[in-house]
Amino acid sequence: MSSVPEGPMRTFGVPPKLLAEQLAALSGAGYRLTGLSEALDLLDGGCTDPLVALTFDDGYVDFLDHAVGVLAEAKAGATLYMSVGHMGGPADWLGPHAGALGPIMDWSQLADVAATGVEIGNHSLIHHPLDVLPAGQLDAEVRDSRDRLADALARPIRSFAYPHGYNSATVRAVVAKYGHGNACEVGRRLYREGGDRLAVSRLQPTPDHSGDDLVRLVRGEGSSLVPALKRVAQPGWRVARRVALRVFRTKLT
Ligand SMILES: [Zn+2]
Repeated sequence: MSSVPEGPMRTFGVPPKLLAEQLAALSGAGYRLTGLSEALDLLDGGCTDPLVALTFDDGYVDFLDHAVGVLAEAKAGATLYMSVGHMGGPADWLGPHAGALGPIMDWSQLADVAATGVEIGNHSLIHHPLDVLPAGQLDAEVRDSRDRLADALARPIRSFAYPHGYNSATVRAVVAKYGHGNACEVGRRLYREGGDRLAVSRLQPTPDHSGDDLVRLVRGEGSSLVPALKRVAQPGWRVARRVALRVFRTKLT
């Protein structure tokens, strides 16, 4: 399975060699690389080190095959958000693009990842935009996926990532109600200390960003890069949400 997706999903994957270069550049610039809950715990403990939290979505097999080794080499922590209802199968919310990013890990592969110290976060069951779901289904999407992860991994699940990034006050309240202390959206800007922990914004590195580009972005010096990054990343996000909404409607009818 190729680790470098093609077509509209291309910007969702960073080749392992480039990931290694990006992490080395961040470490070399003095950033401590952690998972998201760890970064927030460090801030709460008064840590003043410059921090970068690394997050990965969906849980493709590719993460176990490639990213785990790169992270270990870089001595970096990370948070991986699992699409629990799709484990062991394709990312079928992507419709015709389901195969572009490879299959989602099964439970035994996820246990292997968790054993390396990567934080496992919740990314809902079916990966549907949560802001448009009826209340009962919204609850189930957040609660059942959390329960299955916590049972399988025998640890509390502290972090959530909104599928496609979309959230609302109602969605954030449900995520908090089921015990998640932090949650991330897309945002494409830096998270500042004191910001809403249930709407942690993220930058999305793409295959077009060198290590130096990423350092500039996390320093807040990449204002000229952010519009470019948005332009590059947008088509993939738009296609993914549009397809997910359509696939879901088809299932209902
Ligand atoms: Zn996702």
